[in-house]
Order: sequence, then structure tokens, then C-alpha cells
Amino acid sequence: MGKMDGKVAIVTGAARGIGQAIALKLAAEGADMALCDVRLEWLEETAKGIRALGRRVACYAVDVTEFEGVKNGVNAIVEEFGRIDVLVNNAGITKDGFMMRMSESDWDAVLDVNLKGAFAMTKFATKIMIKQRSGTIVNVASIIGLIGNAGQCNYAASKAGLIALTKSVARELAGRGVRANAVAPGFIQTAMTDALPENIREKMLETIPMGRFGQPGDVADVVLFLAGDEAAYVTGQVLTVCGGMVMQ
Ligand code: NAD
Repeated sequence: MGKMDGKVAIVTGAARGIGQAIALKLAAEGADMALCDVRLEWLEETAKGIRALGRRVACYAVDVTEFEGVKNGVNAIVEEFGRIDVLVNNAGITKDGFMMRMSESDWDAVLDVNLKGAFAMTKFATKIMIKQRSGTIVNVASIIGLIGNAGQCNYAASKAGLIALTKSVARELAGRGVRANAVAPGFIQTAMTDALPENIREKMLETIPMGRFGQPGDVADVVLFLAGDEAAYVTGQVLTVCGGMVMQ
């Protein structure tokens, strides 16, 4: 018996990194998976892993910044699977730079993917969750959304916004059987963080009480908990997954 048996889950940004680990974890616990990413061709690797687990999987080219595209994508998922039990808003990008030098386009791009994208996915996916009178949303925020970061004002604002979106959706839909929570990862080893210079990575490591970087699977385990029935009485919460970097 898996914790996700009989459930249908959507993960955005499922092609690699944390999104891929979440998709594989939910499938390993029995969920059928709808994978979304802006890069359809990259999704095949995740899909292969899910098929190997014996679960049903379908891939969708969804750019979460395209409002109509999100609507069509969610409709296609409902048509294919008949329901949506779990939505994980994981797609996210960074375009770092100091505030004084940040361009309007770098601000807009990060807010569009990380915040507006989650709003669009949530708006359309919760339509069917409300009809079902059940569903869970897990948003992948960041500790940077809690504490801020020099050189990441766009990213920090997007993740703080995502946390506020999570709490607002949780309040709006608590009476309709729909829960919404967020995870706030710290430094997780993925392509996003591999891109950072070695000296920055070393400095970051010194700030982690547990003395190691996180792995995508560390985040996936917490997403599974929040998405599943063990967290049935948990909504509007933010769980940090950061080796003790931030203690709330
Ligand atoms: P990643 O860059 O490895 O993966 C992100 C995925 O999102 C990619 O597959 C990419 O194609 C997809 N994506 C990007 N823009 C998209 C769009 N417009 N529509 C649909 N898909 C899109 O990143 P990651 O490190 O795995 O991060 C995943 C999430 O976790 C992000 O929201 C990120 O902000 C968050 N996070 C990461 C870390 C970390 O240390 N890696 C820490 C805190 C939070």
C-alpha cells in the first residue's frame, strides 16, 4: 500500500532537479502523474522512471507563465486522468543581480514563473478540486522568501509572494476540502545551485548547521508528507527543508 494509491498528481518543472525527485517520489507511493515543464523533451527521463515504477504518466508542454496555456494544460490533464488530487507548484527560475542593477525584464521573468505561474496553475487546478471536495497543493518556495538575500530581490519577493499566496489559498479553500502548504528549501544540490561559483557554495556550506547541502530527495520527502493524508489537518503552513539554516 502506497501513501498516494489511487491519486493523480501534477508536478510543474518536473523535468529535472527537485521537481523530478518529487514526481518520482509521489509515483513510488502509488500516484499517477501528470508532468508539466516548459521543456517537453526533457520530461521523457522523468516519465521513463515513473513507467518503470508501474504508474501511469503523461507529459505536458506547459509554460506556467502562459495563462491560456496553463488553462488548456490543466483541462487536458483532467480529460486524461479524470481528477486532480495533488498539485505541486515547483517550476522556478533565478535571474540574480543586485537590486540597483536589476533590469525590469529580470524582475518580471522571475515573478512571472515563480509567482504568477503558481497562481495560474492553482486557479485552474482547484476548479476540479473544489468539485471533488478534496485536493492538496504544495508550493515549492525557498528560505530566501523568508529571510531575503542580497543579489536576489526578485527571487526573494517571488518566494515571499508564493508563501502569501499559499496562506491565502489555504484560507479560501479550507472549507472546501482543499489544503495548501509550502516547503521552503535551503541549499539543495541541483542544476540551479551547481551554477553558483565554488567560493559562494563553500560560504553557504558554513551557514548550514547540519554541515551538508540538501538533496532533491530531502525536499520530495516533505512534499509527500504535506500532499498526503498524514497531513490531513495541516494547511497554510511553511515547512523549511534546510538543514537548520533557518529556524522559525
Ligand atoms: P532546476 O532549474 O533544476 O529545475 C527547474 C525546472 O523548472 C526545469 O525543469 C525547468 O525547465 C522548469 N521551468 C522553468 N521555467 C518554467 C516555466 N515557465 N514553465 C514550466 N516549467 C519551467 O531547479 P531546482 O533547483 O530543481 O528548483 C526547483 C524549485 O525549487 C524552484 O522553484 C526553486 O526556486 C526551488 N528551490 C530550489 C533550491 C535549490 O537550492 N536548488 C532552493 C530553494 C528553492
